[in-house]
Amino acid sequence: MQAKKTKVDLTDNQLLRYNRQIVLPEIDINGQNLLSDSKVVIIGLGGLGCPAATYLASSGIGKMMLLDNDVVSLSNLNRQTLFSESDISKRKVDAAKEKLLEFNSEISINTKYIKVDEAFNDEIIRTYDIIIDCTDNFETRTIINSISLSNKIPLITGAALKFEGQVAVFRNDLDDTPCYRCLYPELPKSSGSCVDTGIIGSVTGFVGTLLANECIKLICNFGNILDSKLFLIDLKNNDFKTIKINKDKKCEYCE
Ligand SMILES: [Zn+2]
Repeated sequence: MQAKKTKVDLTDNQLLRYNRQIVLPEIDINGQNLLSDSKVVIIGLGGLGCPAATYLASSGIGKMMLLDNDVVSLSNLNRQTLFSESDISKRKVDAAKEKLLEFNSEISINTKYIKVDEAFNDEIIRTYDIIIDCTDNFETRTIINSISLSNKIPLITGAALKFEGQVAVFRNDLDDTPCYRCLYPELPKSSGSCVDTGIIGSVTGFVGTLLANECIKLICNFGNILDSKLFLIDLKNNDFKTIKINKDKKCEYCE
């Protein structure tokens, strides 16, 4: 996706609400219009999806689609910052939508209580501009990669475990760029999950916030985007690395 001029006219209220980001030359009025005109899908409303959705909603993304098939439980509350004790047993998509609209009632939020698996009908996300993968397992991430490729929608993906995280942007809307399967051609039989390995909320908060930040940069077309790069985050040792992801010419997913 390329930054473009939009026809959205910001209201006085919006100019005031988004003033602190509009004064950034990288965003400006045109960038704010682009954000207001953007449609973003967030898949997974766990530790990564909550901060990503929060910052995108508050930045004024025009339309969001939230996909998740889980309900809020007590053990989510150490990191899933959209949810409160009173949300326990509610569907995450419903509780998240309610909270996000409290933050910003000017945006449009669609939700679907659904598992993204092989049977997922991607028709509901075809018109969206960016997919953010906030899910927690390799299998779902590969399905989302395929959905992103077949619909030519850029994919921003993140993962977090223990004190570590990863973020990458895959321009699956373009030719000759690597996809998620170029990075992980062989999937591990089982990846650790936070259920048995553990996770701290500040780590998911950091990684989820980065996902929102890359999304805003991609929409407004500025800065050094983690496009075809893997950003490796170790928050125990404060060690950060960026490695280039090469296109695998033999990748059967992105050809
Ligand atoms: Zn590939």
